[in-house]
Amino acid sequence: MKPLNDIYGRQFKTLRVSLLNRCNLSCVYCTMGEDVAKPEKEEPTALTASELLTIITNLHTLLSFSTIRLTGGEPLLYHDLIPIIEGLNKNGLHNIKLTTNGFLLERMAVDLVAAGLKSINVSLDAIDENMFALMSKRGNIQRILNGIDAAIDAGLHVKLNAVIMKGINESQVLPLLQFAFDRNISIRFLEVMSMGHLHQQPKKYLVTQQELLHIIAQQYQFEPCHRQHAATANYWQTTTGHQFGIIANESAPFCGDCDRLRLDSKGQIYGCLSSNHPIPIANVQQPEQLQACLQEAMQQKQTLQFTGSNLSMLDIGG
Ligand code: SAM
Repeated sequence: MKPLNDIYGRQFKTLRVSLLNRCNLSCVYCTMGEDVAKPEKEEPTALTASELLTIITNLHTLLSFSTIRLTGGEPLLYHDLIPIIEGLNKNGLHNIKLTTNGFLLERMAVDLVAAGLKSINVSLDAIDENMFALMSKRGNIQRILNGIDAAIDAGLHVKLNAVIMKGINESQVLPLLQFAFDRNISIRFLEVMSMGHLHQQPKKYLVTQQELLHIIAQQYQFEPCHRQHAATANYWQTTTGHQFGIIANESAPFCGDCDRLRLDSKGQIYGCLSSNHPIPIANVQQPEQLQACLQEAMQQKQTLQFTGSNLSMLDIGG
C-alpha cells in the first residue's frame, strides 16, 4: 500500500475521536449560548462502543497512531466510556488522553485511571463563578475545580485549556495562571477559532497570542521554550519556574506539521478542522478502501493558514 504522507511529510499519528456530539455545558464559542445542556435527553450516538472500537482499530492497523484523544461533545457523558478506554488498551493503543469540561470528573477520575487513562485536559475558561456562568451558561464551577483536584489525586496528568474571548473573559488570564501554578499543572490559553457560528466573524472575539503575552507580562517574566514537533501549543517558561502555553490557531497556525486525524460520532473522518467535508468510513471494510478515504482526508490538510469551518467543535470534535 502507498505510504500515507503528503508532500510536506505529514502523517496521521494522532487520532481525535468525538464520542458524542452532546455536551452538558453551552459555552458561548461552541453554541452561541444556545441551550444544549440536556444530558437527560441524550440521544443515542450513532455508533456503539464496539462499532467505534472496530473503526479505531482498523485505522490504527493502517496508521499506527502514537496517541489517541477522546473528546466530544462531552466525553464523560458517553455511556460506554470506560469500556472504550479498556478496549483501546487491549487493542494496543496505550497512550490514551481525554479532553473534558470536568463537570463529571470528581466522581469518575478513579475509574478512568483504573481503565487505563493517562492524561486529561480540562477546559476551564474562568475562575470567577459569574464569569464561568457567562461563558458556559451553567453554574457550579466548584464541581469542576473539585474534579481537577480529584484527577490530580487519582494520578492523571492534568492540563488546563482556557479559551480567552475579547471583551468577555480577558480578566481571567492571570487568575487562571495562578490556579494552575498553585497546583503545578500546565495551562494553555486558546485563541478563539473561527468555527461554527464564529466562522463568519473570526476577528470579533479574537485575543491574539501577542495580546495574551502582553497580559501575562503584567505579572510574570518569561522566555519562549523550544516547540515540539506537531505540538499544538507554543510554550513559555516563567522566571518563577512555571510553564504556560498558547494555542494560536488564528495568529500563528501550526498546520505545517499537523499530525491529527479526526473521527466524529457518526463514523466520519476529517483530515483538518478547516474542512466541512466529512468522509464516512463506518461501513468501509476493505483496507484498500479505507486507505483511499485516508488519502482523501490527507488532502484536506491546509498548508499555511487555518481557515476554520461552519461546523462547530461540537460536531467535528474539539
Ligand atoms: N466537552 C469537552 C471540553 O469542554 O473540553 C470536549 C469538547 S470541547 C469542543 C474541546 C475543546 O474545544 C475545549 O477546550 C473548547 O474550549 C475548545 N473549543 C471549542 N470551540 C472552540 C472555538 N471556537 N475556539 C477555540 N476553542 C474552542
